[in-house]
Amino acid sequence: MPIATVDPATGRTLKTFEPMDAAAVEERIAKAHRTFREYRETDFATRAALLRAAADLLDKEREEIARTMTTEMGKTLAAARAEAAKCAKAMRWYADRAEGLLADEHPGPDDVEDSGAHRAVVRYRPLGVVLAVMPWNFPLWQVVRFAAPALMAGNTGLLKHASNVPQTALYLGDLFRRAGFPDGCFQTLLVGSGAVEGVVRDPRVAAATLTGSEGAGRAVAAAAGDEIKPTVLELGGSDPFVVMPSAADELDYAVSTAVTARVQNNGQSCIAAKRFIVHEDVYDTFTARFVAAMERLTVGDPMAETTDIGPLSTEQGRADVEELVQDAVSRGAQALCGAQRPASLPEGWFYEPTVLAGVTEEMRIHREEAFGPVATLYRVRDLDAAVALANDTPFGLSSNVWTRDEDEQRRFARDLDAGGVFFNGMTASHPALPFGGVKRSGYGRELSAQGIRAFCNVTTVWFG
Ligand code: NAP
Repeated sequence: MPIATVDPATGRTLKTFEPMDAAAVEERIAKAHRTFREYRETDFATRAALLRAAADLLDKEREEIARTMTTEMGKTLAAARAEAAKCAKAMRWYADRAEGLLADEHPGPDDVEDSGAHRAVVRYRPLGVVLAVMPWNFPLWQVVRFAAPALMAGNTGLLKHASNVPQTALYLGDLFRRAGFPDGCFQTLLVGSGAVEGVVRDPRVAAATLTGSEGAGRAVAAAAGDEIKPTVLELGGSDPFVVMPSAADELDYAVSTAVTARVQNNGQSCIAAKRFIVHEDVYDTFTARFVAAMERLTVGDPMAETTDIGPLSTEQGRADVEELVQDAVSRGAQALCGAQRPASLPEGWFYEPTVLAGVTEEMRIHREEAFGPVATLYRVRDLDAAVALANDTPFGLSSNVWTRDEDEQRRFARDLDAGGVFFNGMTASHPALPFGGVKRSGYGRELSAQGIRAFCNVTTVWFG
C-alpha cells in the first residue's frame, strides 16, 4: 500500500510520501532508545506539564487537524473535531492521574513478614521503547490512548501509522515535539507494514501495541512472541446489540442509539454495534423504526455539517463491505434498506446505510466483521437464545444490552463473552474505563490503570 493521502470522498490522490529507508528507521530507533535512558529519570510533574502542553496545542489546532483527518479517511468533520477534543481530554486525564495510578504499592505487614522481608514495595517502572502500530479509523485517538499513558509512565514511543493517514501521523510526532517532549520521546516512522517486523525484533524495542485487523495482529504478535516481548492487541469486533422486552418503554431511545452505534465513524469502528439481536416481542416495532431511521440518514460530503455518513476510507474497504452484503443476499438475506452505492454520489467510496434481516450461519457476515454502515438483524425467543447468538462469533470486544430487568442484567453481565457489557446505552471508550477484548478481538487492555500499567515493569523491591 503506498503511503499517501487519498481523499475517499473523491478518490483523488492529494499527496504521496516516500517511505523512510532503513537508515532513517535505524536513526529513530537509536534516538528513542537513547532518549528513554534520560526521559525515564523525569518526574511525573515534568511529564504531566509536557502532556498538558500537548493537549493545549491540540485544542488550539483542533479545526486544522480535524480537516486533515476528514480529508485523509473520510470521517465527518463533526466526528473529527470530537475525536481531537477527546484526545486532549485523555491527555489531561493521564497527566492528572498517572502518578497516583503508578504509585508504589505496599503489601500488608503480615505478608511482608511472611515473605521474609522487613520491607517490600511493588514499583511500576517504564519498560523502554514501545512500538505502536495503528489503524486509520480513529487516526488521532488510537494513537493518543497509547501515547498518553505510555509517555506518563516514562516510556518512549515509535508510531507506525496506517499508510493512508500519513499527514495525521506526521502531525502527531510534531505535536509531542512542539509540546516540549525531548526529541526522541515520540517519533513517527513513515514506513509500510513490511518494515514492522524488523522494528519489533530490534533489541532496543521493548514491547509493541497494535490496533487493527486480525492478520496484522497475528503478524506482530508472532514476531514479538518469538522475541519474548509483551504485546497489547486491539483487533476487530462484531458487537451484539441486544434488545429485550423491558426496553419497550424506551424503544425510540434504543433505536436512535442503535443507529448511532452502527453508523458512527461511517460504520468503521471496532466497537460499533454490528449485530442487532431483538426479542420477538419487540422485533417488529424495533425493526420498522430502525430501518426508517437508517433510511433518513444523509450520506455525502464529510466536510458538510449536514452529513451523517461520509465515504468508506478506502476503495478496498468498500469492496469488502459490498462482498459481504452480496454474499448474504445471494444466500437469502433480505436487504430492508441500502445494499448499494448511492446513485447521486458517483465519485468516492460511499455506501448506503444497510439493514439485513434473515441472516443465517452460512453467510459470511454472520462471522465476519462488517466494517461499514451495515447492520444485521436477528429475531430471538428468549434470553438464552440472545446470549447464545451474541456469543456465536469469533470476536469478543464489547456488547450492548437493552433491559431494565435486574435479573436479566446479571445474566448478561455474567454470560456475554466480551471485554465490555454496556446496558441501556452504546459502547464508548472513556479514559477511566479499561478497553479491550477477548477471543479474536485481542488481549490486554488500554486506558484506565490497566492501560498505563500494560507497558510497565512491575518490579518487586524486597529488603531482607
Ligand atoms: P490493518 O490493515 O490491520 O492496519 C492496521 C495497522 O497495521 C496499519 O498501520 C497497517 O499498516 C499495519 N499492518 C497491516 N498488516 C500488517 C502486517 N502484516 N504486519 C505489520 N503491520 C501490519 O487494519 P485497518 O484496516 O487499518 O483497521 C481496521 C481494523 O482495525 C478492523 O478490524 C477494526 O475492527 C480494527 N480496530 C480495532 C480497534 C480496537 O480497539 N479493538 C480499534 C480500531 C480498529 P499499513 O496501513 O501500512 O498496511
